Amino acid sequence: MDYRDTPEEAKFRLELREWFKHNIPANWRDITDGEGLRALAKSWHKALYADGYMGLNWPKEYGGQGLSPSFDAILNDEAGRAEAPRLPGMVNYLGRAIFTYGTEEQKLLFLPTLLSGEVQWCQGFSEPGAGSDLASLRTRADLQGDHYVVNGQKMWTSGALQADWCLLLARTDSGAAKHKGISCLLTPLDAPGITVNPIVLHSGEPETAEVFFDDVHIPVTQRIGEPGAGWRIAMTTVSYERGASDTGSISVLRRQLRELEQIAHQKGLLNDLNTRMKLARAHVDIEALSLNVAQQLSSRLAGRDPGPEGSVGKLLWSKAAQYTMHVALDVLGADALTGNAPRWLAEYFTSRPVSVYGGSSQIQKNILARMLDMPR
Ligand SMILES: Cc1cc2nc3c(=O)[nH]c(=O)nc-3n(C[C@H](O)[C@H](O)[C@H](O)COP(=O)(O)OP(=O)(O)OC[C@H]3O[C@@H](n4cnc5c(N)ncnc54)[C@H](O)[C@@H]3O)c2cc1C
Repeated sequence: MDYRDTPEEAKFRLELREWFKHNIPANWRDITDGEGLRALAKSWHKALYADGYMGLNWPKEYGGQGLSPSFDAILNDEAGRAEAPRLPGMVNYLGRAIFTYGTEEQKLLFLPTLLSGEVQWCQGFSEPGAGSDLASLRTRADLQGDHYVVNGQKMWTSGALQADWCLLLARTDSGAAKHKGISCLLTPLDAPGITVNPIVLHSGEPETAEVFFDDVHIPVTQRIGEPGAGWRIAMTTVSYERGASDTGSISVLRRQLRELEQIAHQKGLLNDLNTRMKLARAHVDIEALSLNVAQQLSSRLAGRDPGPEGSVGKLLWSKAAQYTMHVALDVLGADALTGNAPRWLAEYFTSRPVSVYGGSSQIQKNILARMLDMPR
């Protein structure tokens, strides 16, 4: 492993730093209402795309830049450092499914607008009763002539309220073994028979949703991969979702920790050994995550796709994000609850589902146990 930037990477980093200086929307943190946040996400996505910062690692023929995965990691790192709005991360892992398994026609039709932000997507995998045990999903897609008829329900579909399309998993063969009877359909959310109901999170915003399908007709040409390939497609998608470039929020964690150290200093808490130990442990957790990300990145640069070992990164990310926020509440004390520091309380709540979405911590441990050949 060599953690240093190559000359091209160093040049890109400097360019990016300059770009962030001039392009981060002013006062974006003051936007708190749902409509404003959605407009911000869309315009931020478009600004990044316009200047060539989306799809850095995608092939050029589908609108990408054809660069190595380290450029994505630099983008994540610098975005966190510059306190930029969140990057549109879903694009990378949903796009990966389409350009790994889609036909040439599907790739040319769907990838450019996914990348540019013109068309918004969401991931319709989880269902009530099929989150960790995703292979038990019950939404059905029955083949009738040249289209599938979809019936069922998805749950926790983030961004579904504003999305135009959904990468949908549905059971197309109920006679097959449960992992083998699933297919993946590119589904327009304005198709007749689809109802999207918001789920409001702690922020007060409907960040995620439940989606109902009632006799929804989807042309067979919108299936990606072979019938029954849905499980493999889902695993590719989540391995990129759990992967190194999505845990690039390290610079955000580092910044939060620096701020907490300053607050602890101002409150005279740094004389307390217990507080110093907690801050040190958060620091160690963040550095362990950072080294794991560097290791995963080296492995991708050596040409290996992310695999089950990405579960280590997901576990370290959950641990670092949640522990840092735990320390934040300890350092802020009552201020976190009295409204003197509402931002920290919101960030604390934002850290809670990190250990659930993209596969819970317990499931990551199960995956690793299987890799290590441990007893069931
Ligand atoms: C904010 C948020 C956004 C999300 N966004 C999306 C999205 O966009 N698209 C999407 O498809 N899904 C999304 N999800 C769903 C997410 O992937 C699931 O919540 C997650 O996989 C867990 O599934 P579950 O909620 O059904 O919990 P369950 O699977 O019911 O798990 C409940 C608890 O039991 C534990 N558990 C379950 N099985 C085992 C086992 N075998 N061994 C040990 N422990 C076990 C789990 O770790 C967990 O603690 C989102 C979730 C959240 C919270």
